[in-house]
Amino acid sequence: MKTKVAIIGAGPSGLLLGQLLHLQGIDTIILEAKSPEYVLGRIRAGVLEQGFVDLLREAKAGERMDREGHVHEGFSISFAGKQERIDLKSLTGGKKVMVYGQTEVTRDLMDARAASGGVTIYGAENVELHDLYSDSPRVTFQKDGDLIEVECDYIAGCDGFHGVSRKSAPKDEIKTFERIYPFGWLGVLSRTPPVSEELIYACHERGFALCSMRSESLSRYYVQCALDENIDEWSDERFWSELKARLPKDVAERLVTGPSIEKSIAPLRSFVTEPMKFGRMFLVGDAAHIVPPTGAKGLNLASSDVYTLYHALRKTYSEGRADLLEKYSEICLRRIWKAERFSWWITSVLHKFDGDPFSARIQQAELAYYTGSLAGLTTIAENYVGLPYEPVE
Ligand code: FAD
Repeated sequence: MKTKVAIIGAGPSGLLLGQLLHLQGIDTIILEAKSPEYVLGRIRAGVLEQGFVDLLREAKAGERMDREGHVHEGFSISFAGKQERIDLKSLTGGKKVMVYGQTEVTRDLMDARAASGGVTIYGAENVELHDLYSDSPRVTFQKDGDLIEVECDYIAGCDGFHGVSRKSAPKDEIKTFERIYPFGWLGVLSRTPPVSEELIYACHERGFALCSMRSESLSRYYVQCALDENIDEWSDERFWSELKARLPKDVAERLVTGPSIEKSIAPLRSFVTEPMKFGRMFLVGDAAHIVPPTGAKGLNLASSDVYTLYHALRKTYSEGRADLLEKYSEICLRRIWKAERFSWWITSVLHKFDGDPFSARIQQAELAYYTGSLAGLTTIAENYVGLPYEPVE
């Protein structure tokens, strides 16, 4: 097989990049290890920044999001018995976020790719990357027992944190930076109306909690839990009771509970790979970096990587600007580190750490300071709606 860009992974990064390139007449093949159903079964992100929303529209996959997604103009932080609203719209000169589930984004991108005739090979096993530093890299994989080779100009490693692409980079060329947090998030998805129209982040002495949603009838709730928590010990009743205990009284009283339709525990991690380009292979999205989900930045960072690689490839093919591909890492990493900083900060101020009482008081003072000053509120708001994408030129 032959293509211009071989894309590893059919998560949001791979599908979005594939669709944008396809619309520019740049041929791609996407190789995905799992089945479409498996990919769609992962319940993850739900808060989309404006940059991501614009890119999805540009990929001609934004119609259903515009119809069914919910625009949010603010969110709340509860701590020390009070609830402070962050008015995103007024603090950022009109910017907002869109609440629309990652599963739906993925489904829309899969449909758009199928409609445009792009090739996606699901169930591609033992994917291997070859000759990254030559002018004609290759990817091999196995499908139904056959060994298949894809010749290409470039490889986009969009295969998430556990994928093969990052592992294929030469060990002496790659640097990684990591912080593992001493807790996780226990998440529940339930077919119940959300407790609030906007997200509520709760900092409580029992631990952090988050009230989020996917639609008017589908809610997503999280509570901070221990890393070694056994999910079987968390009945729905125990989860709802713990969540209520961490929310402001009036919010807890109006919370509608119901059977969970998904329940999982996610560890929290900050992770960055430098650089993100190895010869003709580019790491994109979770393959290159991870943020704790508190700042709702993971999927959105994947989107800004896609934006940068898409424009660099587009200009390489249409204007001969291969020099832009050389700048891919530095452009991406400037925005990534700022989002890493915000995600780390908001995680640090909202979660319970097993530290000394002095640190706990400092945490409360930090929240009071940021939510009590216009400068503090603006800092939170402009990071939450997403920092601007850097032009690729
Ligand atoms: P992935 O979604 O991981 O996709 C990678 C794909 O590559 C997968 O389909 C995988 O099967 C495939 N693959 C892996 N290995 C191989 C291989 N060897 N060969 C072929 N294919 C392979 N982000 C936000 O912005 N906002 C949020 O609110 C938010 N909440 C989150 C909540 C949770 C609980 C979690 C876990 C994450 C959350 N995120 C959030 C992060 C977000 O889900 C990820 O950043 C996003 O999925 C990254 O997309 P991706 O396409 O880069 O990687």
